[in-house]
Amino acid sequence: MDFNILVLGSGAATPTFARHCSGQMVNICGSRILVDCGESTQNQLRQYHQKIQSIKTIFISHLHGDHFFGLPGLLSTMHLCGRTEPLTVYTPVGAKAALELLFQVSATNVNYELNIVEIDVDNPTVVHTGKGFTVTAFPLHHSVTTYGYIFREEPPLLNLRHNVRDQYQMTNDDCVRVKNGEDLMLGDGTVIPNSQLTMPRRLARSYAYCCDTSFDESLIPILSGVDLLCLESTFDEAFSAMAEERCHLTASQAATIALRAGVRQLLLTHFSARYREIEPLLGEATAVFPNTICAADGGRYEIPYKYAKN
Ligand SMILES: [Zn+2]
Ligand SMILES: [Zn+2]
Repeated sequence: MDFNILVLGSGAATPTFARHCSGQMVNICGSRILVDCGESTQNQLRQYHQKIQSIKTIFISHLHGDHFFGLPGLLSTMHLCGRTEPLTVYTPVGAKAALELLFQVSATNVNYELNIVEIDVDNPTVVHTGKGFTVTAFPLHHSVTTYGYIFREEPPLLNLRHNVRDQYQMTNDDCVRVKNGEDLMLGDGTVIPNSQLTMPRRLARSYAYCCDTSFDESLIPILSGVDLLCLESTFDEAFSAMAEERCHLTASQAATIALRAGVRQLLLTHFSARYREIEPLLGEATAVFPNTICAADGGRYEIPYKYAKN
């Protein structure tokens, strides 16, 4: 099953022609989820051929404009294009009142069921369970209430090796038990170990989105072992004082979090508009954590399968 991220906007507060404000499509277990919705997100969805009506769930990290100001327009467009399917938006507290006021003063009504779920958690908490995956919200450290989100696949079932079903004349119940990790007992009492019946176990994959945040060691255990970690990287080390003052990360700090959390790959995003070229930020990060890549608008980032060592 595909698990990938399409970056719609990789810029920080001020959009440029090259980098729009924050927005991503997360494709997990057949679900298409929008994460953040900066002002140009609906145009970017069209630019990259994403069907807006197929989005059933949206997660907003925080209510700064570069992550939130595109949402009222997108919700309105969904209505104007005839949406009837329900939509659920997870967001920090405040979005509901803001949207109600905007809808009131602009005489906007939406003809579909719009569920705004305002998150209010102090610790990592599963806030959404989809088909085959969960989403955990946890607080980041920014100038307003901000949540990071971890998207985790549920542990996949084991796959049977070729021909074992016929070889051992397994019933459907046998197959279910073996796929769940049990050994197989034959009629004569012989036990066939599960490892002889199944392919190497595919492990559940995970993706974490953290934008915006300052450096905080408490994030490290929360992000431990994540497969793909998307961290903001607004500045380079030359602007470390500004990063601290504005509650953002430098590339080097982002890489330090990735290294200490033992993630598989780091994806940097949310670059300040002052950087026309981001190679210096990439260089700064790879010096600390080599498996780092930089997000580009329109870039798609796969989270490959991984298997247990039998
Ligand atoms: Zn931002
Ligand atoms: Zn922010």
